[in-house]
Amino acid sequence: MMRPLLFTNARIIDPSQDWDFSGELLVKDGVIGAAGQSLEAPQDARVIDLEGKWLVPGLIDMHVHLREPGEEYKETIETGTAAAVAGGFTAVACMPNTRPVNDSAGVTQFILEKARRAAKARVFPIAAITLGQKGEQLTEFGDLLSAGAVAFSDDGLPVRNARVMRHALEYVRNFDALIISHSEEPELSRGGLMNEGRVSVSLGLKGIPAAAEEVAVFRDVALAELTGGRLHIAHVSTRGSVEIVRRAKARGVAITAETAPHYFSLTEEAVIGYNTSAKMYPPLRTEEDRMAIIEGLKDGTIDAIATDHAPHSVIEKECEFQLAANGIIGLETSVALSLNLVRSGYISASQLIRCMSSSPSRILGVPGGSLATGDPADISIIDPEVVFTLTRESLHSMSHNSPFLGETLQGKAILTLIDGRPVYDPEGNCSHPPGQQ
Ligand SMILES: [Zn+2]
Repeated sequence: MMRPLLFTNARIIDPSQDWDFSGELLVKDGVIGAAGQSLEAPQDARVIDLEGKWLVPGLIDMHVHLREPGEEYKETIETGTAAAVAGGFTAVACMPNTRPVNDSAGVTQFILEKARRAAKARVFPIAAITLGQKGEQLTEFGDLLSAGAVAFSDDGLPVRNARVMRHALEYVRNFDALIISHSEEPELSRGGLMNEGRVSVSLGLKGIPAAAEEVAVFRDVALAELTGGRLHIAHVSTRGSVEIVRRAKARGVAITAETAPHYFSLTEEAVIGYNTSAKMYPPLRTEEDRMAIIEGLKDGTIDAIATDHAPHSVIEKECEFQLAANGIIGLETSVALSLNLVRSGYISASQLIRCMSSSPSRILGVPGGSLATGDPADISIIDPEVVFTLTRESLHSMSHNSPFLGETLQGKAILTLIDGRPVYDPEGNCSHPPGQQ
């Protein structure tokens, strides 16, 4: 049995309850006991003085690729969830583009079983919209939801056929479930290697226009409006997409959207030098797009920050730019990069935690995102000040494909709890008696 934990001198931030105050929080029997000032704690409670560090609802990353089953040389559910908790995430939602594709209850159950055995972050499988992600025949939404899937997406690939997407959005209404759109018009993105613009011209690389994303976002928003199905736009990367989502929300369309830290941290300039660790889909865009993404987070047009954690082995990344795989890892850099938005004064700490915890929980309809009394004690403790250098050795992910390797970053998780149990505790806050190391 875990001893009760009393966190003192914490900056407690919980946007679901409009909390941002300095105080104490008690964890008992795996749930949140109470929060406030000078709490009465049980005699045997372990007191952990947080010295002003942040105590927030466990972060939830609603868009990761765990690569298992099928590509265990890139990442496994065990290493991916280890990276998650080290990044402050108590839960991740994993995309279905595995081998085989998660388009059946059997694969969903396999993922959940592996996650249970890994006993790190909670894993919420996202099942495919279409069988084999081929874009033709819808999967059995009811069976997949019963098996534990929390949403549907063909992420990695767009649903090319608008009629199929329409049916998916109609069908999903029966279950009040969610469709997540990987918005890409493949005829416009075909053969593209980076954002289409000044830099692609100078590097002589075939570009992907912003319109390749925007046409698809617009199509899926129109289909959501037509059907009333719940739609979430994945990895928004352009100014135009932000504007389409903003206008649709103003009309009352049932849509939400996410972006990834790289879209508000980097631009297409990162590709200069044919840097394969800056190659991803959608591609890094322009400074104007980057600022529009930040504006979208600021005014709530973009609901969530998700990493699109996409591990790839050295073979797939340390090669010619044309041949390199798309995507970067993100679980262990998201907190630091996202904190930059708070440090720069773009958004408040509370807005940040909303984007990284409360909103993903609400959008996916999964538990978490709150520190209310009686809730499971899924908690992230974040030191927003600590400065560290991102190295291969420091990463828990099996892959190292990050454009931030070697960079000095600020802010990271120092303790992650699930059900009140420490799943990441490198400083031994929960395992050593006070005063001993
Ligand atoms: Zn995608």
